[in-house]
Amino acid sequence: MIELSGVEKHFQGQVVVHPLSLTIKEGEFLTLLGPSGCGKTTILRMIAGFEQPTKGKILLDGADLTSLPPNRRDLNLVFQHYALFPHMTVEDNIAFGLKMKKLPAKEQQARVEEAVAMTQLTPLVKRYPHQLSGGQQQRVAIARAIANKPKVLLLDEPLGALDLQLRKNLQSELKHLQRSLGITFVYVTHDQEEAMMLSDRIVIMNGGKVEQIGTPREIYAKPTTLFSATFVGENNIFSQDGRLFAVRPEKLVAVRGTEGAKRTGEVLDVLYLGSIHKLIVQLDDEPMTVSIAFDFTDDRPWNVGEKVGVAWNSEDEVVIGS
Ligand code: ATP
Repeated sequence: MIELSGVEKHFQGQVVVHPLSLTIKEGEFLTLLGPSGCGKTTILRMIAGFEQPTKGKILLDGADLTSLPPNRRDLNLVFQHYALFPHMTVEDNIAFGLKMKKLPAKEQQARVEEAVAMTQLTPLVKRYPHQLSGGQQQRVAIARAIANKPKVLLLDEPLGALDLQLRKNLQSELKHLQRSLGITFVYVTHDQEEAMMLSDRIVIMNGGKVEQIGTPREIYAKPTTLFSATFVGENNIFSQDGRLFAVRPEKLVAVRGTEGAKRTGEVLDVLYLGSIHKLIVQLDDEPMTVSIAFDFTDDRPWNVGEKVGVAWNSEDEVVIGS
């Protein structure tokens, strides 16, 4: 549905987005995930039309968007900072774009009502932005975007300014909203958990380059690069015969003593995290993290300095590139 073909962006001669080719499917929830400065926002702004690619093309449903201004593209952008009009009520904020498009009044009203109901804002429609919490303001921004019924919604860290609990609530709401609307979402975040929870596919970016594209499950189970292996979830990285491997902590087992173990070492630290214990083990030359499910039949604590054997199945080793 959206096709980026060899899209690149340079600022003052510096490459901030390396050549990128990507097809985003209709109805897909696609997330650009990466650390600050990796080029996520720039990609979103190019799709929205606020930035021109230095090279390459962007197509929407086969039509070349590259030189169309933002208001002629059938998509809407939601920012981290809600950018609501302070002197307008919630319903006027939501209706604003529809008025600009000169939709018939009845149609405007129906769309506002629908967007307000979907974002659970019905009791708040007469309020002004300063009378709303951050989460409610962000809901208004989302309602305003969906009232336009765009083919694509672009969301740039829309939950980034909210506290953890509110973010978690809105994450589930967003996912639900996207499913029921069937709109394609292109979402930007640096929060790997958020990306894993929401997305159909994730594009992992680093330094302006794509590290990996895949479903959350593929990225977790089969990271292809060192960066994606360590950016999403925890991993133990080690090399053997000149190759680099990653093994997830929960795939390791720790046994007391060292007899018969694949590798042996010493407990460096013990972290109790409720449902699991984590052992940090000094293994040969490398510290490894072992997550151990709480064992109700063995309540002996692990002690720092204790000798420990560590084992895992070789099928849980993932070969990664550097
Ligand atoms: P964040 O999560 O912090 O928003 P990001 O991954 O979205 O980061 P971008 O905002 O896309 O990153 O920025 C990518 C790089 O491009 C950064 O190094 C940034 O400084 C640079 N950059 C962005 N906009 C401009 C501009 N208008 N002029 C010059 N450099 C820019």
